[in-house]
Amino acid sequence: MFELTRDTFHDESRQGEAFATIAIADTSKKKFYIESYGCAMNFADSEVVASILIDQGFGVTQNCEQADLILLNTCSIREKAELTVRKRLTEFRGLKKDNPGLLVGVLGCMAERLKSKFIEEEKLVDLVVGPDAYRTLPGLIEEAETGQKGVNVLLSREETYGDISPIRLNSNGVTAFVSIMRGCNNMCSFCVVPFTRGRERSRDAYSIIKECEDLFANGYREVTLLGQNVDSYLYTNPSPQVQKGTNSATTFALLLEMVAKISPLLRVRFSTSHPKDITDDVLFTMAKYENICNYIHLPVQSGSSRMLQMMNRTYTREWYISKVNRIREIIPGCGLSTDMITGFCTETEEDHKETLSLMEYCEYDLAYMYYYSERPGTLAERKYKDDVPEETKKRRLQEVIALHRIQSLVSMQKEVGKTARVLVEGNSKKSDEHWAGRSDINKVVVFRKSNNNLTKGCYADVLITGCTAGTLIGKSLTPKGE
Ligand code: SAM
Ligand code: SF4
Repeated sequence: MFELTRDTFHDESRQGEAFATIAIADTSKKKFYIESYGCAMNFADSEVVASILIDQGFGVTQNCEQADLILLNTCSIREKAELTVRKRLTEFRGLKKDNPGLLVGVLGCMAERLKSKFIEEEKLVDLVVGPDAYRTLPGLIEEAETGQKGVNVLLSREETYGDISPIRLNSNGVTAFVSIMRGCNNMCSFCVVPFTRGRERSRDAYSIIKECEDLFANGYREVTLLGQNVDSYLYTNPSPQVQKGTNSATTFALLLEMVAKISPLLRVRFSTSHPKDITDDVLFTMAKYENICNYIHLPVQSGSSRMLQMMNRTYTREWYISKVNRIREIIPGCGLSTDMITGFCTETEEDHKETLSLMEYCEYDLAYMYYYSERPGTLAERKYKDDVPEETKKRRLQEVIALHRIQSLVSMQKEVGKTARVLVEGNSKKSDEHWAGRSDINKVVVFRKSNNNLTKGCYADVLITGCTAGTLIGKSLTPKGE
């Protein structure tokens, strides 16, 4: 039974998830096992890595004990994420002892941040491969098989893996991530991403459309367009098939429209939006197409303009609020989520109160809340003192979480009595007699299977009759036989 998660971009329940072997006839000799950590972009990257390795004749296993190659696709965003990976690596020591030919590789942000230092620190690691170097994996594996260590952490200004068709191994067959860009040019002072994933580059619009069309043809009914800052997507040399011979640039609003036009039955989501970059054009495009979901992940990070300035977010509290007002004006009822950091350098109780009051104003449907974790090499680490005591950071985080709990329950309760159009993603976690899916505004909806004709990938109109903190409960209004 598949598990429906509440959000697609940051998903704590998927950390360390391993690929399933579904749909791959596995006759190959060598098998790889891959675990993914961090954000959805990393999970999408693992699908690219799988494609590269399967092309080379590798098979995939979900059991690390059967693997010839173990890969961890890692995250560096907070210290805790790195510690989780370090701990996981120690668990492979025994396997390597029993099977000396076993190769262990570290991919992604931690590989990029630590480079060959990783090999010095973690003796059992054979491969260290950064996010822009996955095409070189086959060669590096060959090197490692001869007993040498394989390291490639070169960042690229061009690599988008646009021509590689990701292998969707852990998929529910209904929803998929599609990377539209890589890297980040913003320099938020707390953030390690610009250092680990390099400069921002946008993927060829034609290859994005092609990937979405293929997904739709294969039965998928929802795509989530992924990037660290999707609103700055800009592809300047579009393929003639997409732009019909014109030379104009493809902006994110245009890309959204092109994906939405593939079919009214294909839902489109996207993540993440930066408050400084989201445009009216994007909002009007969302309002124009019913299949573009009315949901925006718009991380604010703090409610205090002073903190925002130190974080180098390039907007103020007032700017952010005016964006939220604009969203609600153009797309009434639009779902809204955020990321929040408590205890950033010099944060006072006053600053913290501003965060709480901003949350009260914005009434987020969902929030990802963290306490500040200083990352080596970031602007904040070089410029500011990490001077808020850990217990204060954690206490403030608890206050933010407590307020969000109340607000998210209210946001669920507001849906009771309304009708939601739900894309069925599979059986509910708790019962095979119920379907689970998501509403347009990204709420999980569970309802009894009264209609025999509904299947995974169908849309159902569901009357919301009740809710818990995380789930809407409803009743299908789709008549029998439809
Ligand atoms: N690009 C997105 C944006 O601008 O919001 C998000 C990128 S990051 C992968 C996801 C979230 O992790 C951030 O929005 C931020 O809240 C959090 N984060 C990043 N660096 C952090 C740090 N040093 N300590 C705590 N949280 C951090
Ligand atoms: Fe990090 Fe800021 Fe880029 Fe997001 S926009 S990835 S928080 S630097």
